Amino acid sequence: MSEITLPPPSSHNEYDSNSLRVDQAITRIEAAIQPVSGYAQLALCNALNRVLAETVCSPIDVPPYTNSAMDGYALRGADLPGEGERHLNLIGTAFAGRPYTGAVGDGECVRIMTGAKMPAGSDTVVMQEQVQREDATVSIGTGHTVGQNVRGIGEDLRRGMTALEPGKRLGPTEIGLLASLGISEVRVWRTLRVAIFSTGDELRSLGEVLEEGQIYDSNRYTLHGMLSRLGVDIIDMGVVRDRREDMVAAFEQASAVADVVITTGGVSVGEADYVKETLEQLGQVNFWKIAMKPGRPLAFGQLGAVWFFGLPGNPVAVMATFYQFVQPALRRMMGQHAVRPPSMWVPCATVLKKRPGRVDFQRGILECNAQGRLVVRSTGAQGSHMLSSMSQANCFIVLPMDCANVEAGNPVEVQPFEGLI
Ligand code: AMP
Ligand code: MG
Repeated sequence: MSEITLPPPSSHNEYDSNSLRVDQAITRIEAAIQPVSGYAQLALCNALNRVLAETVCSPIDVPPYTNSAMDGYALRGADLPGEGERHLNLIGTAFAGRPYTGAVGDGECVRIMTGAKMPAGSDTVVMQEQVQREDATVSIGTGHTVGQNVRGIGEDLRRGMTALEPGKRLGPTEIGLLASLGISEVRVWRTLRVAIFSTGDELRSLGEVLEEGQIYDSNRYTLHGMLSRLGVDIIDMGVVRDRREDMVAAFEQASAVADVVITTGGVSVGEADYVKETLEQLGQVNFWKIAMKPGRPLAFGQLGAVWFFGLPGNPVAVMATFYQFVQPALRRMMGQHAVRPPSMWVPCATVLKKRPGRVDFQRGILECNAQGRLVVRSTGAQGSHMLSSMSQANCFIVLPMDCANVEAGNPVEVQPFEGLI
């Protein structure tokens, strides 16, 4: 595991000059983290969402033979008329999987279906809708070009060509692509083990009755969902109370079984925030004040060979910091190439309140306006304890450090929550 260089501790003023910028934090985390070692050989059907750990070269040409892209008639391009009509003799039929075995000569054509191998001698297909047929005579007019409606051998992938590179996350597309090459097994990075626990005396687990001053532990469920989507093995250690001994025991237990430990709460400077001193005692950890809202306090470092992320306690801050810092780091550990979240600039339909000096991740709703243009509007109240605002939202509105209030109509950057594939 590589050494990490940790910056000096920062002071406690709000958004002071010692606060780390979001992009600096991402760069530092990316620079420190390396993929884990250890691989698995998996059947293709079990490899969805895993990260490829080998170069896959195509063992065959895809498509493996020149074939028709249409239902129609295969003929020699030289027989296409320059003017008027040409009458061709129909000499047979080619189906997908049942090729026509003869050859097409001058003045001849073969009825052909989509995906059927082009018969010898033919190089052009005319769509069935564009011919006149009477018994065994097919009449073709003008307006066609030699080679039309034909899919060439190896047009998708040539034999020996690199089809996929290590670091590629295998989605439905890649699973289908590998199947098209006849590949039934792949080498992927092993699954990550991620231990999670919540910290806080006020937290109760589901099924327990809330007494005065208590709330349900939602962060562990959100984390569970975010981590399940990434396909890691989750070690759920429940809620750890705000007591020094409990905290030490939990950290020791977690770091003995996991590649990564993620906690929520207890990283700010309150009197019951024991995460910090426990980590200082047990590992090499840095406490960052990030110039962002929500998600200002964040701990990142190592407990021995195990990576540690101490996320804030507020539920929206947990999600914002997870997606900006933790998810890219976990993907890197899983062997995946670094991928920045997709973002775009769209006009903002509402006024946004913003103080300069930090990056805001406000909750937004991306939608089409009456003119069919993509615009974004605020979900309204932006408290970092309001998980309902995340649920109404379908994107983060990312407002840069220097930006102040945003007027309606001004362009803003958004990170959509969902991708298509
Ligand atoms: P802390 O950083 O521990 O002071 O927590 C900040 C805020 O987040 C407090 O209002 C906590 O009650 C709340 N919080 C901490 N952990 C959780 C959790 N697991 N689920 C829901 N809210 C939490
Ligand atoms: Mg707490």
